[in-house]
Amino acid sequence: MTLPFDNSYARLPDRFFARQDPVPVRAPTLIALNRDLAGRLGLDPDWLASPAGVAMLAGNAPPAGSAPLAMAYAGHQFGGWSHSLGDGRAILLGEVVAPDGMRFDLQLKGAGQTPFSRRGDGRAWLGPVLREYLVSEAFAALGIPTTRALAAVTTGEVVVREASGRPGAILTRVAASHLRVGTFQYFAARDDVPALEVICNYLTERHYPQADTPLDLLRAVVARQADLIAHWMAVGFIHGVMNTDNMALSGETIDFGPCAFMDVYHPNTVFSSIDQYGRYAYANQPQIAAWNLAQFASCLLPLMGPEGPAIEAATDAVHGFAPLFQAEWLRRFGAKIGLANATEADRPLIEDLLSRMATERADFTRTFRGLATGQAAAEFIDPQAFEGWAPRWQARLADEFDPQTVMARANPVRIPRNHQIEAAIVAAVDGDFARFHRLGAALATPFDPAPEFADLEAAPRPEERVERTFCGT
Ligand code: AMP
Ligand code: MG
Repeated sequence: MTLPFDNSYARLPDRFFARQDPVPVRAPTLIALNRDLAGRLGLDPDWLASPAGVAMLAGNAPPAGSAPLAMAYAGHQFGGWSHSLGDGRAILLGEVVAPDGMRFDLQLKGAGQTPFSRRGDGRAWLGPVLREYLVSEAFAALGIPTTRALAAVTTGEVVVREASGRPGAILTRVAASHLRVGTFQYFAARDDVPALEVICNYLTERHYPQADTPLDLLRAVVARQADLIAHWMAVGFIHGVMNTDNMALSGETIDFGPCAFMDVYHPNTVFSSIDQYGRYAYANQPQIAAWNLAQFASCLLPLMGPEGPAIEAATDAVHGFAPLFQAEWLRRFGAKIGLANATEADRPLIEDLLSRMATERADFTRTFRGLATGQAAAEFIDPQAFEGWAPRWQARLADEFDPQTVMARANPVRIPRNHQIEAAIVAAVDGDFARFHRLGAALATPFDPAPEFADLEAAPRPEERVERTFCGT
């Protein structure tokens, strides 16, 4: 089997990456293969599932035409600057060009040490691999821009995390690209203006061909992020590590580390065990995105002409994030309560519902879904809190043509809830992947009620709640 590789990133100058083959593993076993995605990419799923295919997915046999490398990048982690990060546990095999001409990165995550590994072992364990597989595929089914999961394998090796041995695993990630804010920061921090020019042109050609100038590019990146973060907010998603190295310039969601969907709604919700100060709490995500975009903007300044006007134009472009985000947020949350064309006049109605949900510990997903079925009130500790809101809402709905359909399309029935992911991981560590596969199947049709998945629509019982999530490291 020859894969349709065309590795444009590997043709960039040497200082953009380190050539690095994956480090072979002892006994690879296929856990999951995304046959639909394989088809989309023009790859033969039967070959991928064969011993030769699994050897590739495990990093034991880099395929003909690949150009394995670890990408260089820097970044702000929790606001603190890191001059050099880079792919420390991921290897970019190359780019495949799909039958429709779309170009995708094929990356093995957990494929061994690279020059960027610092003290890390370059590996991943099964938990974060399954988590990223489930959540990124759920995102795709929800219609949210995201990297994808093509396959997951176990390595037959043990990875030590928090003093205990865990099964090693590798995820094959598919992405529009792996360019990050941190990719630009890496060169900006080194005053490498020629490299910035190269990467700016590369990003433009690959993702924003309509942009004529770096300023156009900045505006387009800002717009895509505004759209993306509004998507996250509308499904109650908390990324958890919105470091600048984890913001993809393609506008896809990337790096599902300690991410989580909220059960009970509260704007200050944080899951990540390492986010001690709540920097990346649910409600902070728009401001953090804008902060990251300001870092991106500052990298582009050397390419934007005389400094004074450049700073002014770049600042304006970054300030464009808030109104774009607000408009997108209103559109999405408007749809969630059945409004096809919400206007600013509707914002207080939506905000009032959210504030009552927070006070009354209402489940985010079930409350919105329950609006259409008359079951929302039951999600509130005091149903009166909902009943006090509903009459104004119903009066407003009288102007709408088909609110039921609008709501059914905007409010998923099933999201990857933390406790379900944890249960799937616990079973998988014991060698039982049935829960993982069932959850994956249920999340492939998130908007369709399905009696056979009714248990997965439930909120966690108090003893099932998972309040903390951990990084993949
Ligand atoms: P992340 O938490 O995925 O955003 O990763 C932050 C940085 O740490 C990146 O440079 C990763 O490549 C690196 N890193 C994370 N885990 C490991 C690991 N197990 N071995 C080597 N490097 C790692
Ligand atoms: Mg990362």
